[in-house]
Amino acid sequence: MKEYHILALSGGKDSAALAFYIKDNMSEIFDRMELVFCDTEQEIPETYDYLNKIEVFLDKKITRLKPQKSFNHLMETLNFLPSYKNRWCTPLLKTKSMNEYIKKLRNKDDSSIIYLYIGIRADEFFRTKSAGKNSLLKEVFPFVDNNIYKNDVFNILNNKGIGIPDYYKWRKRSGCYFCFYQSCFDWIQLYENHPDLYYKAMEYEYNDCAKIKNGRMGFNMKFALKDLIKPENIRLIKEKERKKTVNNKNFVLFTKYLKKELSL
Ligand code: SF4
Repeated sequence: MKEYHILALSGGKDSAALAFYIKDNMSEIFDRMELVFCDTEQEIPETYDYLNKIEVFLDKKITRLKPQKSFNHLMETLNFLPSYKNRWCTPLLKTKSMNEYIKKLRNKDDSSIIYLYIGIRADEFFRTKSAGKNSLLKEVFPFVDNNIYKNDVFNILNNKGIGIPDYYKWRKRSGCYFCFYQSCFDWIQLYENHPDLYYKAMEYEYNDCAKIKNGRMGFNMKFALKDLIKPENIRLIKEKERKKTVNNKNFVLFTKYLKKELSL
């Protein structure tokens, strides 16, 4: 029975670290493994740069799958923006590409087993799901199985000299530049780092909101993008973020202190 080994790269640190981890610890599999990235074609430039770097550091080509129907085409067809409530982007721009790719492999040999390696860490084990015992598609979670936590991921990437993607300097996650999961602060960061992409998102939103006139906000739940970048809102959002960071730091210090006092 033929076996295929696929590692799904997201453009983020965890799946990248998994590729390096497998190369070092499961080298036989790594040689036969394919690195696959489902490109929404709406990623930020730093993601593409990081993928290029991964190829160099691992000396392995990444298979980059493009969506069959582009984001623009889907926008025209569906006629509304993707959002929390209607998250059509992931299934249509990413999952479909991977499914089609797996189907093609299956067509070559329908009894083949496909192992899909996923970079979910041990501290996120609750996100794992099984495709079923008898399924010919088997999801593998080496970080969960081998107790690899967030700090280990940073260590793997730093030890290899590749480090984490550049966008972590101003953004917490990989994905589309217009991702609706971004906080107001993330949107400001996008505006300051890639104003062209911010304006592009604003244009999508403007066109969408002009069609649907029921007080719809667009990509962000609190502000229309054209209002979010007004100086008074930028000030407000940055100040809120600053307070949040101070509170988080205080909370970490408090937890450490408590643990020490109670000798936990
Ligand atoms: S990154 Fe955000 S916008 Fe892009 S596919 Fe994922 S959920 Fe959708």
